[in-house]
Amino acid sequence: MKKRILILGSTGSIGTQALEVAATHSDKLQVVGLAAHSSSGTLNTQAQQFGLDDSACCLTARDGMDALISLIEATQPDIVLNALVGSAGLRATVTTLQAGLTLALANKESLIVGGELVTELATQNQMLPVDSEHSAIFQCLQSGNSAALKAIWLTASGGPFRGKTREQLADVRAADALAHPTWSMGPKITVDSATLMNKGLEVIEAHHLFGTSYDDITVLLQPRSLIHSMVEFVDGSTIGHLGIADMRVPIQYAFSYPERWPAVADLSVDYRELAGLELGAPDTDTFGCLRLAFQAGRSGGTAPCILNAANEVAVAAFLKDQIVFLDIEACVANALDHFASKILPLESIEQVEELDAQVRSFVDSIV
Ligand code: NAD
Ligand code: MG
Repeated sequence: MKKRILILGSTGSIGTQALEVAATHSDKLQVVGLAAHSSSGTLNTQAQQFGLDDSACCLTARDGMDALISLIEATQPDIVLNALVGSAGLRATVTTLQAGLTLALANKESLIVGGELVTELATQNQMLPVDSEHSAIFQCLQSGNSAALKAIWLTASGGPFRGKTREQLADVRAADALAHPTWSMGPKITVDSATLMNKGLEVIEAHHLFGTSYDDITVLLQPRSLIHSMVEFVDGSTIGHLGIADMRVPIQYAFSYPERWPAVADLSVDYRELAGLELGAPDTDTFGCLRLAFQAGRSGGTAPCILNAANEVAVAAFLKDQIVFLDIEACVANALDHFASKILPLESIEQVEELDAQVRSFVDSIV
């Protein structure tokens, strides 16, 4: 029996790589639906390639988010890949989990914003991480039980500006930030990787996915992106996940789990050439977004929603050259400050959606 998969965000970086995985493993995977925001040409081509008619495809720019939600309900796939970008993915995450479908989660923002509201909906292994670090951790955790987990070592490339000072970052513009050294990704996550906000979001993501306290999650700088993360057990054993930086590996694992299938390409690494693998600590004085994310994560409740919404608006403004690089961090700090009285325990999806909208309009007004 083929696994039936629905790809949300099919025209994006993760979505197109997921379709490559699906095409390679067409004996095991059947694409039953596609959704994207506005690239109708690309979506049509994808639909033709996978033999889908209009009723299995959704463009939210035309049909709205309700149509995307209906597509999840109508197709009832075995796996929904949520590869939308931003907190716009929250409703898709919630609907998928409530429908009892397996969620392959690339859209980390929905987990960061929804926090326990999302994790409480998920049964064991219903939510499979696609983010490379979290897929790595998930795989490492299979060698010991989570009660024996001591610490997570979450690796980070450091982004294109690793080693720079704040003075040097003052003139950075969108074009500079879009040149990431090791991963080729959508524009929003590429900027997040440059500010290290992506790593901050991933710390919060790891906290929710694996139930690990913030004190036990350490960010490890590793510029070559060969170690995708490690877990340390109480007995002194540390298990790491290594390999080429290629998102098709964690995407495929979320589809194949609990099996392993042949890789889509030759992804072998000659580990004899790994001499001089540099490891270190990230510079959170220069890259304050990582510090702010830890802070919001530790505050818990709605704080990560505020952090995320402010970041999304600031990054969009940065991509339009309306603000400079260091303004992103300033916007996030400003929003966390401005909404300090709104940092409350999580109650409902409506609560976070409303706060998300308030923070967006506040940050819109200051950029
Ligand atoms: P992208 O910008 O390349 O693609 C986003 C996709 O979502 C597109 O298909 C777009 O049409 C669709 N989309 C965007 N906004 C939408 C909306 N409001 N409604 C409906 N569809 C919408 O982004 P990406 O790099 O593929 O990232 C997707 C998600 O995966 C993000 O949450 C990102 O953090 C995460 N992620 C990406 C990578 C990567 O290598 N690209 C790695 C790890 C995690
Ligand atoms: Mg990642």
